[in-house]
Amino acid sequence: MTSEYVGRFAPTPSGPLHLGSLLTAVASWLDARARRGTWLLRIDDLDTPRVDPAAEPAILGTLESHGLRWDGPVHRQSDHLERHQSALRQLADRCFACACTRRELRALDRYPGTCRDRGLPRDGNALRVRAEAAAPSFMDRVQGHVATTERIVGDFIVQRRDGFASYPLAVVVDDLAMGVNNVVRGADLLDNTAEQLLVMRWLGIEEPNYAHLPVVVEGSGVKLSKHNRATAIDDRWVSHNLAAVLSLLGFDPPLDRAEAMLAWAVGEWDIARVPKGAALAGFFAIDH
Ligand code: GLU
Repeated sequence: MTSEYVGRFAPTPSGPLHLGSLLTAVASWLDARARRGTWLLRIDDLDTPRVDPAAEPAILGTLESHGLRWDGPVHRQSDHLERHQSALRQLADRCFACACTRRELRALDRYPGTCRDRGLPRDGNALRVRAEAAAPSFMDRVQGHVATTERIVGDFIVQRRDGFASYPLAVVVDDLAMGVNNVVRGADLLDNTAEQLLVMRWLGIEEPNYAHLPVVVEGSGVKLSKHNRATAIDDRWVSHNLAAVLSLLGFDPPLDRAEAMLAWAVGEWDIARVPKGAALAGFFAIDH
């Protein structure tokens, strides 16, 4: 691992940032800045049915108005389809075509191997990779030791039916190409981390450091997400938004101009203070 810290924020442009995604942006920015590292921005735009063309400018505008400046250009997953394909070629021997629909598999914990030996054509079908009941575990800077033994990874999709790389494949390949060695993101992605660790193992890629942040939930316990139309961040209330996010992260900033609050938070930042889960005032729960 290189000594220079390289982190990133990688939103899916399916809607504007809400409190939960702003929390992720702020925490990953602080973690990078406190280490005098680099903070990259990648737009994860491969999930084409969910991409909303208005989302990217809204996300960039919110980051800018909240003083969260990224280093270098904006990266986009859709600009790098060739490197995803090249990783898929390296995994080809482990992959099989699968015609199962999401609906058919919905009730199952794990993929039961339905298409493993059917020899279906790869064209027009998704590609799954044989996970061989692996259950990688890892150390997380917020969650501590994360073992996936109870959620053994089943054969998972690495290329979708529409030909795009799946999220666990694309994120590993793109993080590697961008030199990312520190991943700070929401704990809703913890399950997916096991799949990403397997992809890294197969491709011979060194693991980054991970920190999975608490997920912001509504009073009802439902995770804030674009699906349930979580309220978009209002860019007119920057100091208020930053104070809310910092307090959810376990910090108690003096209410001030955004710039001063962020400078204060960079000085105070200690990821060990970030709560793992359900702790904070009933606001938090790990959603998995
Ligand atoms: N694009 C993913 C999301 O918005 C996050 C990817 C990541 O941080 O690994 O949920």
